[in-house]
Amino acid sequence: MSAIEYFPMEGVPGRYFQCPAYGTTMSDSFCGRSYQDAKRQAEPRHPACRGCAVGALHAGDKAPPPASMLGRLLCCRCHRSTRRLLHGALCISCYNRELEVIKGRNAKGRPPVHAIPTHHQTLLIIGLAGPKLVNFDRVADVLEAMLRVLRTEQQQVTFHRPLRPPPRRQRVIFDAPLRAA
Ligand SMILES: [Zn+2]
Repeated sequence: MSAIEYFPMEGVPGRYFQCPAYGTTMSDSFCGRSYQDAKRQAEPRHPACRGCAVGALHAGDKAPPPASMLGRLLCCRCHRSTRRLLHGALCISCYNRELEVIKGRNAKGRPPVHAIPTHHQTLLIIGLAGPKLVNFDRVADVLEAMLRVLRTEQQQVTFHRPLRPPPRRQRVIFDAPLRAA
């Protein structure tokens, strides 16, 4: 079952939806073709269509395999295998370093020196359940955010940058009719 909302377009045949990867309205048939093109071509015109779960659905492709990272005990920050993950993402060492940053001091009471700076990160993920924005308060980089998603996602997903609102169209200033000299 998919959470994609379809709508008709007046005067144009077909079924349309809002593509979350490109932020445009497109037909399901165009989406399926674009997915197939991206699968075949080395440099596809629409690279975000490669491996897209929505594209696979419209192309009648078999369901993408489940995410291979699901449940693996791998630290999302330092990428080392670990026996235990804290908060479902970090090994004990990375977790302790993060606590030092939050407190502003290490176990010796000094400013932390081995801490990795973190920042807020938003990802747009697209799976068959539809697009979803996920926010992380403290991650070291985009890869950590992606690994955190892949550890818990049941199905294959594709990642995109969150869309920015379209720029306002610049006013045309040379469109006044020319006066006869
Ligand atoms: Zn770690």
